[in-house]
Amino acid sequence: MSYHSARDHVGDLVLDCDVVVVGSGASGAVVATELASAGLKVIIVEEGPNIPSAKLGQMRVSESIRHVWRDGAFTIAIPLGDTPAINVTMGRGVGGSSMLTGGVCFRIPDPVLDTWERELGLVEYTPKKMEEFHAHVEKAIHVEEVPKEMRSIGTNLFAEGAAKIGLTVESMRRNTKGCNGCGRCNFGCPHGAKMSVDVSYLPRAVEKGAQIFSHCLVDKIVMDGTRAVGVRGRLLNKRGGAPGDRLTVHARRVVIAAGAWHTPLVLERSGLGNREVLGKNLTLHPAFRMLARFDQEVRGWEGALQSAYSRTLEPEGITYTGLFVPVGVLGATMPGVGLELAQNAKKIGHLAMFGGLIHDLGGGTVHRGLGREPYVTYRMAARDRAVMPKLIRTMAEAFFAAGAREVFLPVLGMRGLDADALKQLRLEDLPGKRFECASQHPLGSAQMGSSPRRSVVDGDGRVWGTQGLYVVDGSVLPTSLGVNPQLSIMTVATRLAWRMPPISAS
Ligand SMILES: Cc1cc2nc3c(=O)[nH]c(=O)nc-3n(C[C@H](O)[C@H](O)[C@H](O)COP(=O)(O)OP(=O)(O)OC[C@H]3O[C@@H](n4cnc5c(N)ncnc54)[C@H](O)[C@@H]3O)c2cc1C
Ligand code: SF4
Repeated sequence: MSYHSARDHVGDLVLDCDVVVVGSGASGAVVATELASAGLKVIIVEEGPNIPSAKLGQMRVSESIRHVWRDGAFTIAIPLGDTPAINVTMGRGVGGSSMLTGGVCFRIPDPVLDTWERELGLVEYTPKKMEEFHAHVEKAIHVEEVPKEMRSIGTNLFAEGAAKIGLTVESMRRNTKGCNGCGRCNFGCPHGAKMSVDVSYLPRAVEKGAQIFSHCLVDKIVMDGTRAVGVRGRLLNKRGGAPGDRLTVHARRVVIAAGAWHTPLVLERSGLGNREVLGKNLTLHPAFRMLARFDQEVRGWEGALQSAYSRTLEPEGITYTGLFVPVGVLGATMPGVGLELAQNAKKIGHLAMFGGLIHDLGGGTVHRGLGREPYVTYRMAARDRAVMPKLIRTMAEAFFAAGAREVFLPVLGMRGLDADALKQLRLEDLPGKRFECASQHPLGSAQMGSSPRRSVVDGDGRVWGTQGLYVVDGSVLPTSLGVNPQLSIMTVATRLAWRMPPISAS
């Protein structure tokens, strides 16, 4: 048996392997698969539960959130200064956040790689050298372009309006096979069509002998001098999934893939990582969504989720991507209470939606909290703060150009606006706390670099000053990307796995 749930285990658990991988999300699954395929004995330990994709796809939205969304999707980055509070969502289960994606796949943009190479000295990260890793992952997760016929009416309306105001909208690439456009991706694909790592990578790792232990929370890395020799933690086998018996994994290599929110904590609790940098430099891609009401029926939920995007405004730090959320969730986020809310909810069939994110400059810090979770602060950089109103206004203008009657801005307490009201609105004067902001892309909190003084890991993912200890997840990306990061994270993870030396020399 290769999938084990520590929830049902009684007593302490002691394991032994060549490589222990902490976290089974986008990066952990890739590294585990590559190393198992190279003949190593790999154990993956994951804090969350193992809910097979077929089962997740059948759950109600509320059930899916309860089981595999960290903190039931209520995680907040605490705002500092004139910054919105940011709701940061992440997966917590076998497959990590990869299970929850809309399937969007972007390569690491060339200008981002240029910055890494020129400004950070990461000379191995050129577009040419990354080509084989990008291509390898794209094949493994079946990245394909979404045909225009699968776009929702809402996406087509946005594209029509965007073209009128000078934005180019292009077809998205997604990791799907046999997608029928039912639009439920974020809560599990009921048709087994989304090639998230629990479907694409982990079964291959298991085929090559890897063992996956869910409900295992890692607290610390065990060191013998400067060499990593395993991890310690708890089985989440007490009542309600609370920490119970002890977990010990002896390993000749330790790979941390706990994501940008938790990797800094695991390192810090172990007394490892450059304190000047660890936990800092967190980027989030602060994101905003816009609803627009049309006279005609739109039925925005019909069509492949996130089927198109626009990067025309990337020089200003803005990327737009299509999206929609389930009707029940949408109803709960409409403005108004009581009768007014009911009237607004009746418009749902006529609503289109689009989203935009900021290619942010950083400003987040992961701090060790009192309990299990960190507390994270985020101070939006002045440039990013200035971009926010433009990002929002442009989306509204695109929808009005396509004939929308009314738009609902991501501004708390604000009712629907018509085109004239939008013109009158001084969005720039609103305080940051009024904006409704979300993030699904925490990155950069254990950044990679060429200098041990300014980074936590070297260009091969090894924690400076240690042997046998690697970080491979989104936390190593030294800057934000301006695009959704799963493919980028998996590409970097592939490179790191392929670069790892034989066990005895690592
Ligand atoms: C709702 C949503 C939609 C998204 N859509 C897209 C999209 O369409 N396209 C895209 O490119 N990106 C998307 N993303 C982002 C993408 O999923 C993440 O960037 C990526 O999965 C991060 O990979 P990772 O390996 O760094 O971390 P994760 O995939 O988050 O994996 C980390 C894993 O480590 C586990 N863990 C944490 N701490 C411990 C510990 N101490 N012990 C044991 N286990 C631990 C966690 O439970 C988790 O399973 C989306 C994310 C979300 C939440
Ligand atoms: S839109 Fe496609 S990938 Fe998303 S849940 Fe539906 S079938 Fe699956």
